[in-house]
Parts: sequence; C-alpha cells; structure tokens
Amino acid sequence: MKNAIIRTAANVRALTGVDCDEAWVVVADGGEPTLYTDFRYIPMAHRVAPTLKVRDIKHFGPDLKRLWGGKGASSRKIGFEKAISVAEFEKLKKFLPRAKFEDVTRDLAKRRSVKTPGEIEKMRAAVRLNDEIWRDASRKFRPGMTERQMACIIRSMMFERGEGEAFETIVCVGANAAECHHVPDDTVWNGRDPVLVDMGVKLDGYCSDMTRNLLPRRPSSLYRKVYDLVLKANLAAIAAVKPGITGKALDKVARDVIRKGGFGKCFGHSLGHGVGLEVHEAPNASKKSDWILKPGMFVTIEPGIYLEGNLGVRIEDLVLVTATGCEVLTASGKYSARTEKMV
Ligand code: ZN
Ligand code: ZN
Repeated sequence: MKNAIIRTAANVRALTGVDCDEAWVVVADGGEPTLYTDFRYIPMAHRVAPTLKVRDIKHFGPDLKRLWGGKGASSRKIGFEKAISVAEFEKLKKFLPRAKFEDVTRDLAKRRSVKTPGEIEKMRAAVRLNDEIWRDASRKFRPGMTERQMACIIRSMMFERGEGEAFETIVCVGANAAECHHVPDDTVWNGRDPVLVDMGVKLDGYCSDMTRNLLPRRPSSLYRKVYDLVLKANLAAIAAVKPGITGKALDKVARDVIRKGGFGKCFGHSLGHGVGLEVHEAPNASKKSDWILKPGMFVTIEPGIYLEGNLGVRIEDLVLVTATGCEVLTASGKYSARTEKMV
C-alpha cells in the first residue's frame, strides 16, 4: 500500500495504535502514517502513540493537495476504503479532483487477518476473560429473570473486568433462540427452557466471541437431536481447520453434517468469521469464501440450527489456526445432550 487515505476506526487503530473514530490516516510513498484528528483527541493520540506523527485536522485538506494535488496527480493511485460515506468520498474528491481512487479494503483486511505474536496474546487474554465471565455470570442466572436481566449481568461484568462488549450480548430463552440475532427482551426464564447466550468481551482493543446453550434439565427429543447435530458439526469443522483450507471448504464440512442430519435448510448463516480489533473481520468461512486459512488467523466455528417458533441452537468457539491444525481458545465446556457429559 503505497499511497492511501484511511478512515475506518479499526484500520486507523491497526495502522497507528490509536483508537479513534474521528480521524484520518494518510500513508504517502509507503512511509510512516500520519494521523489527522481534532483537538479533542490529539492529547490521547500523543499519549498512546508517542512516536506517531499527529496533525490537526485543519491541515488535512491542504496537506493532501500539497502531497498529491500537483504534478502526476492524474496518474497516481490513492487507496481508500469503500466503507466511507458518500459525503466523505466527495470531500476527498474535492481535495484531489484529478486523483484515481482505488479500494484497498481487501488489502487491509488481508494484513490484519494474520495476527502478530503480540496480538495473539491479546486475543488469548480476551477469550480467557470471556470464559471467566460466562462461568461467573451463568451461575447468577435464576428462574424468574428476564433475558434483559441476564444480559445485564454479563454486560456489567464485561465493563468491570474488560473494556465492555465486543457486540451486543444476545440472550434467548426457549423459542426466541430461533432468531439468531434476537435482542434480549422481557421474556422470563422459567428455569426449564433452554437459554442461548452469544457473548464477547473486548480487552485491550481485541474482541472475543462465543455461543453457549444452557440445556433444559429434560430436553425434548427434538432439542436433544438438534443440539447433538450442531455439536457434531462444530467438532467436525474444528477437526478440519488447517492451513491451506479455504473458507468455503470449511463451511461445507459443517454444512454437510447438518444436511445429512436432515436440517440443511435450517442453517441459514455462514459457519464463521475472523475476529480481532473487530468482532467480524477477515477471514470468513461461508459458502462463497475464497479466503485461505493461514497460521496466525483466528476464525469462529459457529454452526446453528433454527426452527422458527420452536427452538434454536448455535455452538460457537474461537480457534487459532496453527502450523498443523488449530488450537481451540474457547475453554467453556460444551454439553453433549446425547451422552449427558461435557465435551
Ligand atoms: Zn457470536
Ligand atoms: Zn460470531
């Protein structure tokens, strides 16, 4: 990436170490990045990244014109992210009317998809904390609580012990789990229905992501069947993770298990996604993904089966691709309804 203008918060952080969604980063001739932000964030940027070049946002337009507005402007390619707003893009075009902008989103995603040893340690710490919070929070769940109350227990522990939620915690009682992104509401848990929880704490800038299910004491035969099929798909996909496998081949491993079990139409989302500074980032493991897994990448393994108005099961682990296969970082137990044992 020779010349680029970067806006989205996660890429700003990846390039500079500064967590700020009111900033632009300029990379010129492949050199060190310069961060442009306003006076509210400048002291923080100096504190977090003492060697980084930080400029007041008022210099952004004039600097761009000076850098790339003169000779050679029409032949030079400037990288940008297609996720910026139309208004922001118009602004760039106003400063650099003759420049050729090219989308570098995929290049940036590629760079971030393989984590450094330092990032791997931060990811481990975030996943470890998420496991601890699940253990401690789920012990506080009591019959009579609403989904929202249970979500609040998790959420407050995330703010106390980490940097809060990586995404809005999902708590689903009974049939609500059939909506995979159900928003916790006033549904009361009777202590007998299953509860699905999808949660991820953020720590030191890095996200975690996990889904677990509290099983009913006496699950129906349908629930039991669905749960064990999802678990089988989860374990089969974990066993298939290794360098060189594509996202779509990995997705297929889990999808085939669920299809053969007779629930192929009830697994509507992709198998998994990368996690890092953002909870959803590259690589993804979907039906169409051509990402190739490499050591140092993280990917979630989260097959699910959803039967509208009846039940929903998803089991999600976060794994790290290693030289020979993968390491499952999520340590929270997964219950097998068939053997009635933790796996
Ligand atoms: Zn999740
Ligand atoms: Zn996920």
